[in-house]
Amino acid sequence: MKIAILPGDGIGAEIVEQAVKVLNALGQKFETETAPVGGAGYEAHGHPLPDGTLKLAKEADAILFGAVGDWKYDALERALRPEQAILGLRKELTLFANFRPAILYPELVGASTLKPEVVSGLDILIVRELNGDIYFGQPRGLREAPDGPFKGAREGFDTMRYSEPEIRRIAHVAFQAARKRGKRLTSVDKANVLETFQFWKDIMIDVSKDYPDVELDHMYVDNAAMQLVRAPKKFDVIVTGNMFGDILSDAAAMLTGSIGMLPSASLDANNKGLYEPSHGSAPDIAGKGIANPLATILSAAMMLRFSLNLPAEADRIENAVKKVLSQGLRTPDIFEAGTTRVGTAEMGEAVVRALA
Ligand code: NAD
Repeated sequence: MKIAILPGDGIGAEIVEQAVKVLNALGQKFETETAPVGGAGYEAHGHPLPDGTLKLAKEADAILFGAVGDWKYDALERALRPEQAILGLRKELTLFANFRPAILYPELVGASTLKPEVVSGLDILIVRELNGDIYFGQPRGLREAPDGPFKGAREGFDTMRYSEPEIRRIAHVAFQAARKRGKRLTSVDKANVLETFQFWKDIMIDVSKDYPDVELDHMYVDNAAMQLVRAPKKFDVIVTGNMFGDILSDAAAMLTGSIGMLPSASLDANNKGLYEPSHGSAPDIAGKGIANPLATILSAAMMLRFSLNLPAEADRIENAVKKVLSQGLRTPDIFEAGTTRVGTAEMGEAVVRALA
């Protein structure tokens, strides 16, 4: 089993190092190969997704990814910016289904900004489409406005698009995920305003005929944002498009105490996947040894479950994370009075010890 290790930028290297430590402590034989990506790819090879890195990602059975991005690259042309690496990997490997479980561990109830009665016991799953929508739709760019009240003025424009096959494949993934959980699926759209999302809703309803055991409902994205902070436990599985999913999953992250707790899996049709924390490269805390590595460690557990068919090892990691939390160990983002503040490496080592 070959795992491509792509640490990336900012806190990427610090947190991925901890996840690799945990994987190595499982006693399984993994072949790993590390390659630069994002700003690190640009520095090493003049491109955020160097050819060698893309080749490695294609060959590997699974990819463990840290994060990319740094403000120092903001002046580069868009095609060379670090963030293009993750968009390129998602597109090149057809990683269209993004799973973001938002689980609140009982020990972190106090770390959430919401009242305990609103969030305790939270266990929801956001399924985000990752290959389409306004993030990839063409045409896009800058031009002189061809019409409208400011005709002739400079304007920026992007295109929101979803084809029927794209919606159908993410719908099937989401219904199947809901079937394995609470059998409730909420499709989040903006069908009241956008043609793309009226079409999305129509296809969701059509696909639902194949899943009579799953209850489907629909919610506008603005209402979904409100409900996520008002009564998040009412959700079971949420399925939505690329942009809405990007925003809603960050909101869901805070329910779990910190974005540093939220893992993710991005899968293709054959369950090959890229596994990364839901957060970015956090340049504000990079190099300080204080980043929370648990989202990355939990992403490695998802990798074992979804791509490497090692569910017992995935359980071991998840149980070890629960154990270190119950021991009271906390990185600063989840620290509360009465717990023990630890750094990135100490947290990683504690998870390794807890595996035993
Ligand atoms: P971010 O997620 O990097 O950081 C947001 C806030 O959360 C910061 O205060 C940061 O310190 C904190 N944070 C994030 N991860 C943490 C962790 N593990 N432990 C403790 N605190 C943590 O988002 P941002 O600041 O908007 O973006 C920074 C860079 O990351 C940008 O260049 C952005 O484009 C990039 N980004 C990359 C990805 C990715 O690689 N998939 C995703 C989102 C953002």
